[in-house]
Amino acid sequence: MQGTKQEVRNLIAGRWEGANGHATEAVYDPATGEVIAETPLSTREDLDRAVKAAGAAFGPWAATPVTERARILFRFKMLLEENFGELRDLVTLENGKDAKDAGGEVRRGIEVVEFACGMPSLMMGESQRDVARGIDNVSYRYPLGVVAAITPFNFPCMVPLWTLPVAIAAGNAYILKPSERTPLSAVRLGELLLEAGLPEGVFSIVNGGREAVDAICEHPGIKAVSFVGSQPVAKHVYELGSAHGKRVQALAGAKNSMIVMPDAVLEQAVPNIVSSAYGNAGERCLAGSVLVAVGGVADEVVEKIGEAASAMKVGPGYEEGSELTPVIRDSHREKVRGYIDLGEEEGATVVLDGRQPPREEGFFVGPTILDNVKGEMRVAREEIFGPVLSVVRVASLDEAIEFTNASPFGNACSIYTENGAAVRHWRERVEAGMLGVNVGVAAPMAFFPFNGIKDSFYGDLHATGKDGVRFFTENKVEVTRWLSEPGPTPDVQRPTETGA
Ligand code: NAD
Repeated sequence: MQGTKQEVRNLIAGRWEGANGHATEAVYDPATGEVIAETPLSTREDLDRAVKAAGAAFGPWAATPVTERARILFRFKMLLEENFGELRDLVTLENGKDAKDAGGEVRRGIEVVEFACGMPSLMMGESQRDVARGIDNVSYRYPLGVVAAITPFNFPCMVPLWTLPVAIAAGNAYILKPSERTPLSAVRLGELLLEAGLPEGVFSIVNGGREAVDAICEHPGIKAVSFVGSQPVAKHVYELGSAHGKRVQALAGAKNSMIVMPDAVLEQAVPNIVSSAYGNAGERCLAGSVLVAVGGVADEVVEKIGEAASAMKVGPGYEEGSELTPVIRDSHREKVRGYIDLGEEEGATVVLDGRQPPREEGFFVGPTILDNVKGEMRVAREEIFGPVLSVVRVASLDEAIEFTNASPFGNACSIYTENGAAVRHWRERVEAGMLGVNVGVAAPMAFFPFNGIKDSFYGDLHATGKDGVRFFTENKVEVTRWLSEPGPTPDVQRPTETGA
């Protein structure tokens, strides 16, 4: 793994372009701190060229029958399977997560491609005959045009695959702006799409950071923007893109509660909670980051989580058996450590302290538990995005729900219990869009929407599922009536044998 320096290129009009004198940003192997690549920071001019090429590709692609478009996605799916191991290892290299998590993300991404292969049915309109006497009403779905996606570092393969298969199968031309911190998986996806036979310009990659993002939001040639990333940037993209007349979906940050009821089956709940809080170094938008212990269960659950977390094997994702992998950058490690300091200052008890780096090289933070956290503390409310679990102790389920609902975020919430009535009570009241019952990472399958609410999502239509199809298409609704009676069969010219 180490020592391989990758080239990061843009893909514009079907041609790969190197950095060409652009400013670049270093890409690190988070497990060693070694620079493994340089991301070109594209300019407005680069984006403009990509939009023009995508615009030229859009017409012929939209006119390609949906069955043919789907066939290219079938080939893409086969190529993803054939290159599964390479994609998984690229994710581990640039993001740091372990092979199991990296493989899981590639698999989840492939599932969206499988879903999008059904576009001939998914894109069907609706029809109703005789809405009035002799009048029929039909709707057709059309692609939007040139669309763009801006993606985060924490799922460099899966998040682009949340939208690109759906957008492309629906007939759009799609421009991807991957995270400048993890650009390698996207380049490989681009190579495989071309190998699958996708026409030039239907898929483009414009690498970069802020300038490229703002250029996407403002470009008049782009019809829709799908964003996934942190809450402040999601809000910025939603506002800027909408102000420029675009359809925008912006999936944002999170602070997810895991409510543990007194009757929870701790033997199975504890490993599940540990995996949710510390898996992928806590860098998941579905990570459980606050454990809300109800009633007398708190002491036992904190003790068991502490035992399991301190036994985790810390190491690079590409080393067999590593369970706690690095965070993305040194600066992010400092931020996470800063939150542990803050929690202590705010009065939390540091039961397990990961501030001392558990390994000398790389960007590691040890597993951390902050106990006796109160609702008003910042560590209870703000997204830390590291291996830090805050524990809030409450007396009742209603108090647990009240704590959860006080969060501005509404991505996910889990409950651990065997009591169906408690689950129902919670589901009807909790303000979160993805719910897990004895499941710590409540990730919906590709055919359901990825469904954050409140400040975890800006927009109307979510990514994936039927929402994704609606987001990347628009309707024409036609009302038809025929004014004359059918006369005698018209004299249709039959083709001659020569076809002339
Ligand atoms: P980020 O917001 O820093 O970056 C996301 C994208 O925005 C990147 O492509 C980046 O280049 C761009 N960007 C960053 N700063 C910008 C700025 N000031 N102006 C314009 N563009 C900017 O997010 P990240 O750190 O890469 O990803 C982690 C965040 O993403 C977490 O908050 C996590 O919860 C969230 N996330 C949410 C979901 C979800 O489904 N809700 C999924 C994955 C990640």
